[in-house]
Amino acid sequence: MAIQWYPGHMHSTRKAIAERLPEIDVVIELLDARLPGSSANPLLAELTAGKPALKLLNKQDLADPALTTLWLAHLQARPGTQALALDASEAAPAQRLIAACRALVPGRGGMVKPVRVMICGIPNVGKSTLINSLMGQRSAKTGDEPGITKTEQRIALASDFLLFDTPGMLWPRIVVPEGGENLAASGGIGRNAYDDVEVAMALLARVRPRYGDRLALRYKLRDTAALPDEDLLAAVGRQRGGLLPGGRVNLQKAAELAIHDFRNGAWGRITLETPGEFAQWQAAGQAADALRQAAKPPRKGPRKGRGAATAPLPDAADGKAGDDEAGDGEAGDGEAGAG
Ligand code: GDP
Repeated sequence: MAIQWYPGHMHSTRKAIAERLPEIDVVIELLDARLPGSSANPLLAELTAGKPALKLLNKQDLADPALTTLWLAHLQARPGTQALALDASEAAPAQRLIAACRALVPGRGGMVKPVRVMICGIPNVGKSTLINSLMGQRSAKTGDEPGITKTEQRIALASDFLLFDTPGMLWPRIVVPEGGENLAASGGIGRNAYDDVEVAMALLARVRPRYGDRLALRYKLRDTAALPDEDLLAAVGRQRGGLLPGGRVNLQKAAELAIHDFRNGAWGRITLETPGEFAQWQAAGQAADALRQAAKPPRKGPRKGRGAATAPLPDAADGKAGDDEAGDGEAGDGEAGAG
């Protein structure tokens, strides 16, 4: 699958997070409950290794409750980690969030040692929505501002509890192909970065084993198990009006409709991956990536404009994200967050 993403302000955001980190007690990562593995940022994991972590599985209203329970247990089993599920309908999530953070750093609290937390997440995961509900009526600061400005947003959730916001951040290249597909299907990557038909076919293939009955119900099919992926997508097009003049199926339209139905919960509450599945994809993706990197010819000389002390980020698979990473290029603006 060729997903060409543009991590946008990744470089400046990464830098801003790294600079802020020494004074942060807990790193909150907002994940998409439908894809908790695929929506976790490996770059953030690298940057924040060893810090107490709160993983928030957002959009739980769209995710399979049984698998959300499985993911929460999986994440909570990690050292120094708490996990909670939530969704935008929760009117006042602040108390649960504050309690979970306080439990992670019992030595902090009170005016002298306030708890300082940072909230991170990929674009479109629901961070603005959550922050707005954390802030109540006070403010609704949203938008795609460059990293530094937004990173400086500091919200006092209690007299001794400070939350630092960061802009949505992706990572330089896709190492886990299934993760890229799931991100694309969920809206975490801008539309121009992937092919709808490929993503929709991957999505249907992924959903079918666990939720084939839902697809059958939605698209009036007798047996989804026996259909090849393309026929399943064609069936979506036929049922949902994705037809060309003459009655042939418009696969592009069918793909858009399938992705739309998934994102809007028309298939019911669905989770795209279990912890075990994601671990397998990750292991295979990392092994394949190591082989690819080993096969690359060595770079000629150092890149301009880089401090020697900074470990270079790997290039994007297509080269574009690499340019952006080096120069914080314009291509990223609005791309990664669209969805
Ligand atoms: P951000 O880019 O991370 O700031 O994401 P936004 O807060 O702008 O949310 C992206 C989209 O997800 C918006 O359409 C929100 O309405 C939607 N959204 C956010 N949280 C939830 C949730 O818990 N459940 C559902 N169903 N949608 C949500």
